[in-house]
Amino acid sequence: SRTFFVGGNFKMNGSKDSIKTIVDNLNAAKLPDNVEVVLCPPAAYLNLTADLNKQPNVSVGAQNCYLKESGAYTGEISPLAIKDCGAEWVILGHSERRTIFNESDEFIAEKTKFAVDNGVKVILCIGESIDEKKAGKTLEICKRELSAVIKTVTKDDWNKIVIAYEPIWAIGTGLAATSQDAQDIHHEIRDYLRSEIGEIADSIRILYGGSANGKNAPDFKDKLDVDGFLVGGASLKPEFVNIITSRQ
Ligand code: 13P
Repeated sequence: SRTFFVGGNFKMNGSKDSIKTIVDNLNAAKLPDNVEVVLCPPAAYLNLTADLNKQPNVSVGAQNCYLKESGAYTGEISPLAIKDCGAEWVILGHSERRTIFNESDEFIAEKTKFAVDNGVKVILCIGESIDEKKAGKTLEICKRELSAVIKTVTKDDWNKIVIAYEPIWAIGTGLAATSQDAQDIHHEIRDYLRSEIGEIADSIRILYGGSANGKNAPDFKDKLDVDGFLVGGASLKPEFVNIITSRQ
């Protein structure tokens, strides 16, 4: 009953031309009814992406936002502006924001709360580094990153949040987690959520991210706790459609 979810995180890539090509390609595709797709272009292209999209099951998301409605916060993006551009979602807690821009668990939690309170749904990213994986700390890291959010949002807010498990060692490396390893950690993440917030954990989508592509997406098809993908590089290519149709 958890609708299959595929997010495309374009990261800091694209131009008006290339984004038009991507959205036109999606518009021309026969997409399944039982899938939710969210395209996350750079903020400068939110409006364009939303305007070009003609698919009913495709919506648009930003890659970051701040925790104020407006004001003297040079360079930041308000959730209200995201909505005004025709977008409904925002990615928060991506490992690139955590590491390159030093975003803390608490800051991400507060931004998550602010986005949800202002009507923007959140793709919340978590996941461990290669050193943390080697040290056997995968679940511990995921719990730590989630616990900050659990403390900050209400149970109802979880209806507006999907989780993306993105092991940092798999991002952009071509080395995706195996579908069984993803299933195992997703299951543990869901068990942890259930212990903290109860039954609503069973309705939360947990996406896998990290070198997902058109070829490996079908491997995850029978994995009960893998509810979709957050796709980087492959979301810029025609094979993105194959990921979207991988559950058919
Ligand atoms: P890649 O699919 O390029 O590995 O990126 C994953 C990611 O970071 C999505 O947010």
